[in-house]
Amino acid sequence: MDINTLINLKNDNKELNEEQYDFFVSSYLADKISDEEATKLLKAIFNNGMSEQELLGYTKSLVNSGETITWDTPNNVDKHSTGGVGDKVSIIVAPILKSLDISVSKISGRSLGHTGGTVDKLEAIPNFNPDISKEQFVKLVNENKIAVISQLPELVPGDKKLYSLRDVTGTVSSMPLIAASIMSKKIAAGAKYIILDVKYGSGSFNKTIEDARELGNAMKLIGESFDRKVEIIISSMEQPLGYAIGNGVEVNESIRFLKGLEQPEDLKELIYAVVSEFLIIINGVSKEEAFKLIDESISSGKAYKAFIDWAVSQGASESDIDAELYFQPKFKTYIRTEKAGYINFKDVEQFGVVTRDLLKTGRREKGDIVLPFTGMRLRVKLGDYVEKFDYLSAIYSEKELTPEEYETFKSLFTIQDDKPTVPPIIAEVIKW
Ligand code: URA
Repeated sequence: MDINTLINLKNDNKELNEEQYDFFVSSYLADKISDEEATKLLKAIFNNGMSEQELLGYTKSLVNSGETITWDTPNNVDKHSTGGVGDKVSIIVAPILKSLDISVSKISGRSLGHTGGTVDKLEAIPNFNPDISKEQFVKLVNENKIAVISQLPELVPGDKKLYSLRDVTGTVSSMPLIAASIMSKKIAAGAKYIILDVKYGSGSFNKTIEDARELGNAMKLIGESFDRKVEIIISSMEQPLGYAIGNGVEVNESIRFLKGLEQPEDLKELIYAVVSEFLIIINGVSKEEAFKLIDESISSGKAYKAFIDWAVSQGASESDIDAELYFQPKFKTYIRTEKAGYINFKDVEQFGVVTRDLLKTGRREKGDIVLPFTGMRLRVKLGDYVEKFDYLSAIYSEKELTPEEYETFKSLFTIQDDKPTVPPIIAEVIKW
């Protein structure tokens, strides 16, 4: 077998089999195929897509490029989001599940493009350590029913190397490559039940519901072929989720949610949907019973206690969290509107881009420093009515905003005379 044959076959829109994908992934990982050769094959896949058989074969090759985890506990769950703005769902869902006796073993990512990363958010908590070994990960989940960590080098090294190449060769946004990349990591991490929150809208990589559905169905197909239970929730990214965008500021919103102090409607609906779907399939309860269990977990303080247990088990201290050391911004500036009207968000991706570029909440390039305390806290949601001079958002920054920066933040908000349509947060659920 040689790489040029595979490139020619794929350029002719022919299917490659599992053995051929195995050859590609293992040879590239072993430096027997050059970046140029691998890029040619990735581009051929990018242009011609993959059949279902290829999708499964390629994912299997990625999984087989490294180690996998098999859990003693049969019902571990994992939840993944395809990325959005203000998406702190995992940070809230994980401790609620733990408080309800469901084990969460989750490997999360850092910021990607305009989207934030769960690992960056958790790192705003002083001494929270996401970089733990595979053995420690297994021990924490077995003993404490929860661990959220960053990528393990032993798992799916083929994806790590190929993802870095895709990133610099314009081949990231290929549906089968994304589906295989995400699912290979989920399969290797071993959870039995997986909920994938596939975003659509202007703040998502998938701009339309159709794109989100296609990606969701592909990932479900992969998961099921590996004997996993997979549910897809297609949710709206037509506005930032909740009110907070950033790292520490999102941890703050998560803690307030877990304490029952403030629960933005869209965030609450998504959290309750994810947790209840796990409770229904694993514990056989009804949706009403599941919602009641979540309410009780929050009102009794169990959800917040589970958050503290989790953070402490990964290195943080309860007193630092009580002292809110995860969110100590230097400057706070209010963005105000000069006219009355209804709020519209024309381009939610820009919230991610502007906070990343002006406040350093994420990375433009590998190695960029991410700041823990900067970000935005919106006062308004899509379709809200505001009066002249009302404030739209607080901006938390390390330096005072320049007038140009102030204007850039202001330009994220459109004020219009007619009320825009507010789509439901959950567009569709593709059931287990
Ligand atoms: N996230 C991943 O893990 N892989 C992709 O290809 C895209 C998003």
